[in-house]
Amino acid sequence: MKVTSRFEAWRLVFLVSIASLFLSLLFTYLLSPLGLTKEALVPATIVPLVVAPSVSYVVANMMLRLNALNQRLEYLVQFDPMTGLLNRASFFDRFEVSRHTGSILICDLDHFKTINDTYGHRAGDAVLRQIADILQKQVGTDGIAARFGGEEFVVFHPAKPAEAARGCAEAIRSAVAAHVTVFEDKRIHCTISIGLSALDPQTRLDDALEASDRALYQAKKSGRNKVVQATGTGVPDRRNSDLEPEMQQAATKTS
Ligand code: GH3
Ligand code: MG
Ligand code: MG
Repeated sequence: MKVTSRFEAWRLVFLVSIASLFLSLLFTYLLSPLGLTKEALVPATIVPLVVAPSVSYVVANMMLRLNALNQRLEYLVQFDPMTGLLNRASFFDRFEVSRHTGSILICDLDHFKTINDTYGHRAGDAVLRQIADILQKQVGTDGIAARFGGEEFVVFHPAKPAEAARGCAEAIRSAVAAHVTVFEDKRIHCTISIGLSALDPQTRLDDALEASDRALYQAKKSGRNKVVQATGTGVPDRRNSDLEPEMQQAATKTS
């Protein structure tokens, strides 16, 4: 039996009290040689009416608290408590039951350590929460957004990179760049770099994550605050205009 609300707790107290009273009277009637005499009736009524409500009230409250803790635990298993996004493990779980054609975006805040160092860790936390909100808003209900750890977020978008996914990544990048986190009396700007790769039913999620990660690395190396798209094999797309010459070389080597 579950107690999930105050109403259910009081209902339990009421039912247990009535049941105790009934059983007490029944046993008194059956076991007392003289039946329900006045002398037997008083304790048979008073004892259950005093003991049952108080004991069942304590038990109902414990069940209520247990239920609240269970709900919290279920939440923590699935979500990152700071940002409210899915955590890494549930990203993989959700991915298993969603469409397997689309894009994987790995998004990493730029120079986030400097934000912590300059404005403090609590300000950094506030930035992370607000960026997570932007991410969730941009991804909507079609995709899956998760915090993989630290200042790194992963998005599964059901569109292919050539289609809307690149647009979605650009929208995330520009929304983050335009956003100002106001924390106490500080106004904090930050930017995000995004690596993007395509995913089809033949691609393993791990491979797509690796390809996006390599594209992210390129975005970082080529100046940050950019979206870099990998090809299906993880090779950065040459259309990514602003790669530095050595990165273009690295891209050639990995192909
Ligand atoms: P880059 O542009 O290369 O990504 O540089 P970066 O400074 O963002 O990356 P780096 O890996 O050097 O530092 C990440 C920082 O993120 C360091 C760590 O203290 C901070 N961080 C990780 N998790 C949290 C968190 O939950 N809250 C806050 N405030 N900071 C966090
Ligand atoms: Mg970073
Ligand atoms: Mg990082």
